[in-house]
Amino acid sequence: MNIIDLYEKYDNLYYVGGVVRDILIKMPSQDVDITVEGNAIEFCKNLEECEIVQTNPDFGTVRIKLNNQVYDIASTRKEAYPKKGHLPVVTEIGCSLKDDVIRRDFTINALAKNTKTGEIIDYVNGKDDIQNKKLRVLHDESFIDDPTRIIRGLKFATRFGFELDEHTKLLQDKYLKNINYDMCYKRMKDELISMFNLNSNKAFETFINDKIYKLITEKEIKLPDYDISGLIGKYYKKIKNVWLIYVALVDTEKLDLNKIESKIVDDYQKLLNINLDSDYNIVKAFETCETESLILYEINKKDNKAIKYLDKLNEIKPEINGNDLKQIGLPPSEKYAKIFDYILQEKLKNPDLTKVEELELAEKFEKNKENM
Ligand code: ATP
Ligand code: MG
Repeated sequence: MNIIDLYEKYDNLYYVGGVVRDILIKMPSQDVDITVEGNAIEFCKNLEECEIVQTNPDFGTVRIKLNNQVYDIASTRKEAYPKKGHLPVVTEIGCSLKDDVIRRDFTINALAKNTKTGEIIDYVNGKDDIQNKKLRVLHDESFIDDPTRIIRGLKFATRFGFELDEHTKLLQDKYLKNINYDMCYKRMKDELISMFNLNSNKAFETFINDKIYKLITEKEIKLPDYDISGLIGKYYKKIKNVWLIYVALVDTEKLDLNKIESKIVDDYQKLLNINLDSDYNIVKAFETCETESLILYEINKKDNKAIKYLDKLNEIKPEINGNDLKQIGLPPSEKYAKIFDYILQEKLKNPDLTKVEELELAEKFEKNKENM
Protein backbone atom coordinates (compact mmCIF):
# COMPACT_ATOMS: atom_id res chain seq x y z
CA MET A 1 0.00 0.00 0.00
CA ASN A 2 1.24 3.52 -0.74
CA ILE A 3 0.00 6.90 0.47
CA ILE A 4 -2.30 7.35 -2.52
CA ASP A 5 -4.02 4.02 -1.77
CA LEU A 6 -4.47 5.27 1.76
CA TYR A 7 -5.96 8.55 0.58
CA GLU A 8 -8.39 6.71 -1.67
CA LYS A 9 -9.49 4.18 0.93
CA TYR A 10 -10.29 6.48 3.86
CA ASP A 11 -12.32 9.64 4.02
CA ASN A 12 -11.07 11.05 7.33
CA LEU A 13 -7.64 12.14 6.15
CA TYR A 14 -6.83 15.78 5.45
CA TYR A 15 -4.04 18.05 4.38
CA VAL A 16 -4.12 20.91 6.85
CA GLY A 17 -2.43 24.21 7.51
CA GLY A 18 0.21 25.79 5.32
CA VAL A 19 0.04 23.19 2.59
CA VAL A 20 -3.61 23.93 1.73
CA ARG A 21 -2.90 27.65 1.73
CA ASP A 22 0.06 27.06 -0.61
CA ILE A 23 -2.06 24.96 -2.98
CA LEU A 24 -4.57 27.83 -3.24
CA ILE A 25 -1.87 30.47 -3.64
CA LYS A 26 -0.10 28.16 -6.11
CA MET A 27 3.17 28.24 -4.25
CA PRO A 28 5.42 25.30 -3.43
CA SER A 29 5.09 24.09 0.16
CA GLN A 30 7.92 23.77 2.64
CA ASP A 31 6.31 20.81 4.36
CA VAL A 32 3.11 18.78 4.06
CA ASP A 33 0.99 18.19 7.15
CA ILE A 34 -1.40 15.24 7.10
CA THR A 35 -4.05 14.92 9.80
CA VAL A 36 -6.49 12.16 10.65
CA GLU A 37 -9.81 13.31 12.00
CA GLY A 38 -9.62 11.10 15.07
CA ASN A 39 -6.68 9.42 16.74
CA ALA A 40 -3.85 9.00 14.22
CA ILE A 41 -1.94 6.45 16.30
CA GLU A 42 -4.94 4.13 16.57
CA PHE A 43 -5.74 4.72 12.92
CA CYS A 44 -2.24 3.72 11.80
CA LYS A 45 -2.11 0.67 14.11
CA ASN A 46 -5.06 -0.74 12.19
CA LEU A 47 -3.55 -0.23 8.77
CA GLU A 48 -2.15 -3.14 6.84
CA GLU A 49 1.37 -2.93 5.43
CA CYS A 50 2.09 0.12 7.58
CA GLU A 51 5.15 0.14 9.79
CA ILE A 52 4.94 2.42 12.81
CA VAL A 53 8.32 4.08 13.20
CA GLN A 54 7.60 6.34 16.14
CA THR A 55 4.67 7.64 18.16
CA ASN A 56 4.20 10.65 20.39
CA PRO A 57 1.06 9.88 22.39
CA ASP A 58 1.13 13.27 24.19
CA PHE A 59 0.55 15.02 20.88
CA GLY A 60 -1.16 12.18 19.07
CA THR A 61 1.39 12.19 16.27
CA VAL A 62 2.80 9.15 14.54
CA ARG A 63 5.58 8.52 12.03
CA ILE A 64 4.92 5.70 9.64
CA LYS A 65 6.59 3.93 6.77
CA LEU A 66 4.43 3.05 3.79
CA ASN A 67 5.97 1.48 0.73
CA ASN A 68 9.38 2.55 2.08
CA GLN A 69 8.38 6.21 2.36
CA VAL A 70 8.19 7.99 5.71
CA TYR A 71 5.17 10.14 6.66
CA ASP A 72 4.22 12.09 9.76
CA ILE A 73 0.56 11.93 10.58
CA ALA A 74 -1.16 14.02 13.24
CA SER A 75 -4.38 13.48 15.15
CA THR A 76 -6.90 16.27 15.28
CA ARG A 77 -6.29 17.97 18.64
CA LYS A 78 -7.43 20.78 20.87
CA GLU A 79 -4.97 22.98 22.70
CA ALA A 80 -5.11 25.46 25.56
CA TYR A 81 -2.71 28.12 26.85
CA PRO A 82 -2.76 27.91 30.64
CA LYS A 83 0.46 29.94 30.68
CA LYS A 84 0.11 32.72 28.14
CA GLY A 85 3.07 33.05 25.80
CA HIS A 86 4.33 29.56 26.57
CA LEU A 87 3.82 26.23 24.86
CA PRO A 88 0.19 25.15 24.70
CA VAL A 89 -1.02 21.97 26.34
CA VAL A 90 -3.02 19.41 24.43
CA THR A 91 -6.47 19.09 25.97
CA GLU A 92 -8.02 16.59 23.61
CA ILE A 93 -6.75 14.18 20.99
CA GLY A 94 -9.15 13.01 18.32
CA CYS A 95 -11.44 16.05 18.41
CA SER A 96 -13.45 17.26 15.44
CA LEU A 97 -11.63 18.73 12.45
CA LYS A 98 -13.29 22.04 13.22
CA ASP A 99 -11.85 22.16 16.74
CA ASP A 100 -8.44 21.31 15.32
CA VAL A 101 -8.40 24.11 12.79
CA ILE A 102 -9.69 26.85 15.08
CA ARG A 103 -6.66 26.51 17.37
CA ARG A 104 -4.44 27.78 14.56
CA ASP A 105 -2.80 31.15 13.98
CA PHE A 106 -4.46 32.74 10.94
CA THR A 107 -7.50 31.87 8.86
CA ILE A 108 -5.29 31.28 5.81
CA ASN A 109 -3.55 28.53 7.82
CA ALA A 110 -6.77 26.98 9.06
CA LEU A 111 -7.90 25.31 5.85
CA ALA A 112 -8.13 21.58 5.33
CA LYS A 113 -8.36 19.53 2.16
CA ASN A 114 -9.84 16.06 2.18
CA THR A 115 -7.29 13.78 0.58
CA LYS A 116 -9.94 11.47 -0.88
CA THR A 117 -12.44 13.93 -2.32
CA GLY A 118 -10.17 16.94 -2.72
CA GLU A 119 -12.83 19.04 -1.01
CA ILE A 120 -11.52 22.14 0.74
CA ILE A 121 -12.97 22.48 4.22
CA ASP A 122 -13.10 26.11 5.26
CA TYR A 123 -14.68 26.80 8.65
CA VAL A 124 -13.17 30.26 9.02
CA ASN A 125 -13.41 31.99 5.64
CA GLY A 126 -9.76 31.35 4.97
CA LYS A 127 -10.37 31.12 1.22
CA ASP A 128 -11.81 34.64 1.13
CA ASP A 129 -8.89 35.93 3.15
CA ILE A 130 -6.45 34.37 0.70
CA GLN A 131 -8.39 35.98 -2.14
CA ASN A 132 -8.31 39.36 -0.38
CA LYS A 133 -4.70 38.91 0.78
CA LYS A 134 -5.65 39.34 4.43
CA LEU A 135 -4.18 37.88 7.58
CA ARG A 136 -6.84 37.41 10.21
CA VAL A 137 -6.50 35.77 13.63
CA LEU A 138 -9.20 33.37 14.73
CA HIS A 139 -10.05 35.00 18.07
CA ASP A 140 -9.26 38.11 20.07
CA GLU A 141 -6.93 36.38 22.55
CA SER A 142 -4.73 34.96 19.81
CA PHE A 143 -1.67 37.19 20.32
CA ILE A 144 -2.00 37.02 24.11
CA ASP A 145 -1.95 33.21 23.95
CA ASP A 146 1.00 33.20 21.60
CA PRO A 147 2.78 36.43 20.66
CA THR A 148 5.06 34.59 18.24
CA ARG A 149 2.04 34.77 15.92
CA ILE A 150 2.86 38.45 15.43
CA ILE A 151 6.18 37.44 13.89
CA ARG A 152 4.48 34.69 11.91
CA GLY A 153 2.04 37.27 10.58
CA LEU A 154 4.90 39.44 9.41
CA LYS A 155 6.51 36.40 7.79
CA PHE A 156 3.36 35.57 5.79
CA ALA A 157 2.77 39.24 4.96
CA THR A 158 6.30 39.43 3.61
CA ARG A 159 6.25 36.12 1.79
CA PHE A 160 2.87 36.53 0.11
CA GLY A 161 2.43 40.32 0.03
CA PHE A 162 -0.59 40.05 2.37
CA GLU A 163 -1.59 42.51 5.09
CA LEU A 164 -3.20 42.27 8.51
CA ASP A 165 -6.93 42.73 8.48
CA GLU A 166 -8.00 45.86 10.35
CA HIS A 167 -9.27 44.17 13.50
CA THR A 168 -6.22 41.90 13.67
CA LYS A 169 -3.97 44.96 13.40
CA LEU A 170 -5.84 46.57 16.30
CA LEU A 171 -5.38 43.41 18.40
CA GLN A 172 -1.69 43.39 17.52
CA ASP A 173 -1.26 47.07 18.47
CA LYS A 174 -3.11 46.47 21.71
CA TYR A 175 -0.87 43.54 22.60
CA LEU A 176 2.30 45.44 21.72
CA LYS A 177 1.32 48.19 24.15
CA ASN A 178 1.05 45.66 26.93
CA ILE A 179 3.53 42.88 26.31
CA ASN A 180 3.89 40.05 28.76
CA TYR A 181 7.65 39.49 28.66
CA ASP A 182 7.33 36.20 30.49
CA MET A 183 7.17 34.22 27.26
CA CYS A 184 8.94 31.39 25.51
CA TYR A 185 11.82 33.11 23.74
CA LYS A 186 12.98 29.90 22.12
CA ARG A 187 9.88 29.88 19.93
CA MET A 188 10.22 33.59 19.39
CA LYS A 189 13.78 33.08 18.18
CA ASP A 190 12.69 30.32 15.77
CA GLU A 191 10.06 32.58 14.25
CA LEU A 192 12.46 35.52 14.03
CA ILE A 193 14.93 33.30 12.20
CA SER A 194 12.40 32.19 9.64
CA MET A 195 10.96 35.70 9.16
CA PHE A 196 14.21 37.67 8.94
CA ASN A 197 15.90 35.06 6.78
CA LEU A 198 13.54 36.35 4.07
CA ASN A 199 15.94 39.33 4.03
CA SER A 200 13.33 42.01 3.48
CA ASN A 201 13.81 45.72 4.15
CA LYS A 202 10.06 46.10 4.15
CA ALA A 203 9.66 43.50 6.89
CA PHE A 204 12.28 45.25 9.00
CA GLU A 205 10.57 48.60 8.44
CA THR A 206 7.28 47.14 9.65
CA PHE A 207 9.06 45.42 12.55
CA ILE A 208 10.37 48.78 13.74
CA ASN A 209 7.60 51.19 12.70
CA ASP A 210 4.76 49.03 14.02
CA LYS A 211 6.73 48.48 17.26
CA ILE A 212 6.81 44.71 16.80
CA TYR A 213 10.41 44.92 17.95
CA LYS A 214 9.08 45.65 21.44
CA LEU A 215 8.55 41.89 21.74
CA ILE A 216 12.30 41.44 22.15
CA THR A 217 13.39 44.62 23.86
CA GLU A 218 12.13 47.30 26.20
CA LYS A 219 14.48 49.84 24.62
CA GLU A 220 13.46 52.39 22.00
CA ILE A 221 14.85 51.56 18.57
CA LYS A 222 14.97 53.68 15.42
CA LEU A 223 15.00 52.38 11.87
CA PRO A 224 18.54 52.65 10.47
CA ASP A 225 18.76 54.61 7.25
CA TYR A 226 20.34 51.87 5.18
CA ASP A 227 19.48 49.41 2.41
CA ILE A 228 20.19 46.46 4.66
CA SER A 229 18.80 43.75 2.43
CA GLY A 230 20.81 45.12 -0.50
CA LEU A 231 24.00 44.98 1.50
CA ILE A 232 23.21 41.46 2.71
CA GLY A 233 22.32 40.45 -0.85
CA LYS A 234 25.72 41.58 -2.07
CA TYR A 235 27.52 39.26 0.37
CA TYR A 236 24.79 36.63 0.63
CA LYS A 237 27.09 33.67 -0.01
CA LYS A 238 29.27 34.62 2.94
CA ILE A 239 26.39 35.02 5.39
CA LYS A 240 24.83 32.11 7.26
CA ASN A 241 22.80 34.09 9.78
CA VAL A 242 20.97 36.72 7.79
CA TRP A 243 18.29 37.01 10.49
CA LEU A 244 20.83 37.86 13.17
CA ILE A 245 21.92 41.01 11.36
CA TYR A 246 18.41 42.42 11.66
CA VAL A 247 17.89 41.23 15.21
CA ALA A 248 21.28 42.45 16.43
CA LEU A 249 20.35 45.95 15.22
CA VAL A 250 17.55 45.77 17.76
CA ASP A 251 18.57 43.71 20.79
CA THR A 252 19.52 40.07 21.36
CA GLU A 253 19.54 40.07 25.14
CA LYS A 254 16.34 38.10 25.61
CA LEU A 255 17.29 35.47 23.02
CA ASP A 256 19.36 32.45 23.83
CA LEU A 257 22.17 32.80 21.31
CA ASN A 258 24.50 29.91 20.55
CA LYS A 259 28.27 30.29 20.55
CA ILE A 260 28.74 31.54 17.02
CA GLU A 261 25.73 33.86 17.23
CA SER A 262 27.08 35.36 20.46
CA LYS A 263 30.47 35.85 18.86
CA ILE A 264 28.88 37.71 15.95
CA VAL A 265 27.12 40.13 18.30
CA ASP A 266 30.11 40.54 20.66
CA ASP A 267 32.50 41.19 17.79
CA TYR A 268 30.10 43.76 16.34
CA GLN A 269 30.03 45.63 19.65
CA LYS A 270 33.82 45.50 19.92
CA LEU A 271 34.36 46.70 16.35
CA LEU A 272 32.42 49.88 17.09
CA ASN A 273 35.15 50.96 19.50
CA ILE A 274 38.27 49.94 17.65
CA ASN A 275 40.62 52.32 15.89
CA LEU A 276 40.40 51.48 12.19
CA ASP A 277 42.50 54.28 10.73
CA SER A 278 44.72 52.16 8.48
CA ASP A 279 44.17 49.26 6.11
CA TYR A 280 46.35 47.16 8.36
CA ASN A 281 44.17 47.94 11.39
CA ILE A 282 41.07 47.15 9.36
CA VAL A 283 42.43 43.76 8.32
CA LYS A 284 43.58 42.91 11.83
CA ALA A 285 40.22 43.85 13.34
CA PHE A 286 38.04 42.19 10.71
CA GLU A 287 39.94 39.02 9.87
CA THR A 288 38.78 37.11 12.93
CA CYS A 289 35.15 38.21 12.59
CA GLU A 290 32.23 36.63 10.80
CA THR A 291 30.84 38.56 7.83
CA GLU A 292 27.66 39.26 9.84
CA SER A 293 29.65 41.39 12.33
CA LEU A 294 31.21 43.35 9.47
CA ILE A 295 27.84 44.02 7.87
CA LEU A 296 26.51 45.20 11.22
CA TYR A 297 29.51 47.47 11.60
CA GLU A 298 28.90 48.96 8.14
CA ILE A 299 25.20 49.59 8.78
CA ASN A 300 26.10 51.33 12.02
CA LYS A 301 29.13 53.38 10.91
CA LYS A 302 28.48 53.80 7.17
CA ASP A 303 32.20 54.42 6.61
CA ASN A 304 32.69 51.84 3.83
CA LYS A 305 35.47 50.11 5.75
CA ALA A 306 33.76 46.75 5.95
CA ILE A 307 32.95 46.97 2.25
CA LYS A 308 36.55 47.82 1.44
CA TYR A 309 37.64 44.85 3.51
CA LEU A 310 35.16 42.41 1.96
CA ASP A 311 35.74 43.58 -1.60
CA LYS A 312 39.47 44.02 -1.55
CA LEU A 313 41.57 43.93 1.58
CA ASN A 314 40.72 40.39 2.65
CA GLU A 315 42.23 39.07 -0.55
CA ILE A 316 45.59 40.70 0.10
CA LYS A 317 47.72 38.15 1.90
CA PRO A 318 51.46 37.41 2.09
CA GLU A 319 52.43 34.70 -0.37
CA ILE A 320 55.30 33.40 1.72
CA ASN A 321 54.72 30.78 4.37
CA GLY A 322 56.65 29.15 7.21
CA ASN A 323 58.49 26.82 4.85
CA ASP A 324 59.79 29.74 2.85
CA LEU A 325 61.15 31.35 6.02
CA LYS A 326 62.79 28.08 7.03
CA GLN A 327 64.45 27.87 3.64
CA ILE A 328 66.07 31.27 4.04
CA GLY A 329 67.54 30.05 7.29
CA LEU A 330 65.10 31.32 9.89
CA PRO A 331 64.31 28.64 12.46
CA PRO A 332 60.62 28.37 13.35
CA SER A 333 59.72 30.53 16.34
CA GLU A 334 57.14 33.01 17.54
CA LYS A 335 59.04 35.55 15.46
CA TYR A 336 57.25 34.18 12.40
CA ALA A 337 53.99 35.88 13.39
CA LYS A 338 55.78 39.24 13.59
CA ILE A 339 57.36 38.71 10.20
CA PHE A 340 54.05 37.81 8.58
CA ASP A 341 52.46 40.88 10.16
CA TYR A 342 55.21 43.06 8.78
CA ILE A 343 54.86 41.55 5.30
CA LEU A 344 51.11 42.04 5.48
CA GLN A 345 51.59 45.72 6.29
CA GLU A 346 53.93 46.11 3.33
CA LYS A 347 51.66 44.13 1.05
CA LEU A 348 48.67 46.30 1.95
CA LYS A 349 50.71 49.34 0.95
CA ASN A 350 51.84 47.60 -2.23
CA PRO A 351 49.65 44.63 -3.25
CA ASP A 352 51.88 43.96 -6.28
CA LEU A 353 54.80 42.72 -4.16
CA THR A 354 56.11 39.45 -5.57
CA LYS A 355 57.01 36.43 -3.48
CA VAL A 356 60.72 37.13 -4.03
CA GLU A 357 60.28 40.69 -2.82
CA GLU A 358 58.38 39.45 0.21
CA LEU A 359 61.28 37.14 1.09
CA GLU A 360 63.76 39.98 0.73
CA LEU A 361 61.65 42.11 3.03
CA ALA A 362 61.46 39.28 5.55
CA GLU A 363 65.24 38.94 5.59
CA LYS A 364 65.70 42.69 5.93
CA PHE A 365 63.20 42.81 8.76
CA GLU A 366 65.11 40.10 10.62
CA LYS A 367 68.48 41.78 10.09
CA ASN A 368 67.23 45.17 11.22
CA LYS A 369 65.91 43.62 14.37
CA GLU A 370 69.25 41.93 15.10
CA ASN A 371 70.98 45.28 14.68
CA MET A 372 68.62 46.94 17.10
P1 ATP B 1 5.70 27.45 6.43
O1 ATP B 1 5.28 27.48 4.99
O2 ATP B 1 6.62 28.56 6.79
O3 ATP B 1 6.14 26.10 6.91
P2 ATP B 1 3.28 26.91 7.81
O4 ATP B 1 1.98 27.66 7.79
O5 ATP B 1 3.30 25.56 7.19
O6 ATP B 1 4.37 27.85 7.19
P3 ATP B 1 4.35 25.70 10.17
O7 ATP B 1 5.18 26.40 11.19
O8 ATP B 1 4.95 24.65 9.32
O9 ATP B 1 3.70 26.86 9.30
O10 ATP B 1 3.09 25.13 10.92
C1 ATP B 1 2.09 24.34 10.28
C2 ATP B 1 0.70 24.81 10.68
O11 ATP B 1 0.55 24.74 12.10
C3 ATP B 1 0.37 26.26 10.32
O12 ATP B 1 -0.09 26.38 8.99
C4 ATP B 1 -0.69 26.61 11.34
O13 ATP B 1 -1.93 26.10 10.96
C5 ATP B 1 -0.21 25.83 12.57
N1 ATP B 1 0.65 26.67 13.43
C6 ATP B 1 1.99 26.78 13.40
N2 ATP B 1 2.44 27.63 14.34
C7 ATP B 1 1.35 28.06 15.00
C8 ATP B 1 1.14 28.93 16.12
N3 ATP B 1 2.16 29.55 16.70
N4 ATP B 1 -0.12 29.11 16.53
C9 ATP B 1 -1.16 28.48 15.95
N5 ATP B 1 -1.03 27.65 14.91
C10 ATP B 1 0.20 27.43 14.45
MG1 MG C 1 4.95 24.37 7.26
